[in-house]
Amino acid sequence: MKKALVCGAGGFIGGHLVNRLKSEGYWVRGVDLKNNEYGNMNADEFILGDLRDPIIAGQVCKDMNEVYQLAADMGGAGYIFTGDNDADVMHNSAMCNLNVLHASKNENVEKIFYSSSACMYPEYNQLDPDNPKCAEGSAYPAAPDSEYGWEKLFSERLYLSYSRNHGIPVRIARFHNIFGPQGTWTGGKEKAPAAFCRKVAEATDGTSIEVWGDGKQTRSFLYIDECLDGIRNLMKSDFQGPVNIGSEEMIAINDFAEMVIKISGKNLSINNIPGPEGVRGRNSDNELIYSKLNWKPSQPLIDGMNKTYKWVNEQVHTLVNA
Ligand code: NAD
Repeated sequence: MKKALVCGAGGFIGGHLVNRLKSEGYWVRGVDLKNNEYGNMNADEFILGDLRDPIIAGQVCKDMNEVYQLAADMGGAGYIFTGDNDADVMHNSAMCNLNVLHASKNENVEKIFYSSSACMYPEYNQLDPDNPKCAEGSAYPAAPDSEYGWEKLFSERLYLSYSRNHGIPVRIARFHNIFGPQGTWTGGKEKAPAAFCRKVAEATDGTSIEVWGDGKQTRSFLYIDECLDGIRNLMKSDFQGPVNIGSEEMIAINDFAEMVIKISGKNLSINNIPGPEGVRGRNSDNELIYSKLNWKPSQPLIDGMNKTYKWVNEQVHTLVNA
C-alpha cells in the first residue's frame, strides 16, 4: 500500500485531497496546525504540528512514498492584498516549503507535489480584464502583484532546484481559484466564491450585498473535485510542471455575484464598494495541461456554485440557529 503525506490536511484542499487519496487505496498521514474545521478528518493518522519546525517536518515525512505540500499562510483578497499580513505570509509559507522539501529529500520521498498559485503571474499581463495572459511561459520577467505571489514564485524555484540538484521528482501546479464545500467561508480568510455565498445567504430580500471594486474585474474558478483530478493526473504523469490547474470559464465579478443571487432565488442588488481587488483580469490558460496530460475541467461554474451555495447556506443557518 502506498503511503502519502498531506501537508495542510486541516485546510480546504488538503482535507478533500485526503479523501481522494483514501478512495484510491492510499494510507494517508495528514499534518496541520489545526484540525479540519468542517470535520473533514479522514486521514489514517493526523498530526497536529507546525511545519515551520524542521523537526516536525522530518518526523512527518518519514516512510512516505509521496508528499503533497499544501500548507501555506493564505486567504482571499481581504487577507493577502491588504499588505497587513505580508511578513507572515512570506515567512510562514517559505518556512513550510523549505522544511518539507528538505525533509522529503532526507527521507527519500519518491515524489512531491507543490501547490503554487496563479498569483505568481506578472501583473502587467493582467491589466485588461477581457484579455488576461496566464500561459505558463509568461511568468517572466516576474512581477506578481502580492508578496503571496512572490513567495509562490520563490518556492516553485526552490522545488525545481531540488529536482535539478538532488534528483527529487517534483510536480508543480499553479492553482486558479479553487472553490467548493468545506472551505473557509467566514472570518477574513475566505475567498470570493464562499464570501459571495455567505453574503447572499445572510441577506434578506430587497437589500444589497457588497462587492469589492467596480465588479468588472474578471476571474475563473475551479470546482474542488476537478482540482483533485488535475492534481492526481499530474502526480501520475512524467510532467514536472509548473502547470496551470484552473478553469477557462472567465466571468466578471459582478456577473459572478449575480449568479449566486440567482441560485439563492432572492431579490438582491449589488453594491460596489472600494476594497482589495488584486489584478484586473485573470483566467487559466489550459493549453499546456491539455497537451501534456490530456486533461481539462468538465463542469460549468454554475454546477459547482450550486453545490457550494447549498453548503455555505447550511453553515450560515446552522450558526444563526445555534
Ligand atoms: P487553506 O488555508 O484552507 O489550507 C492551508 C492549510 O495550511 C491550513 O489548514 C493551515 O492551517 C495550514 N498551515 C499553515 N501554516 C502551517 C504550518 N506552519 N504548519 C502546518 N500547517 C500549516 O488553503 P487551501 O485553499 O486549502 O490551499 C491549499 C494550498 O493551495 C495553499 O498552498 C494555497 O496557497 C494553494 N492555493 C490555493 C488556491 C485556492 O483557490 N484555494 C489558489 C491558489 C493556490
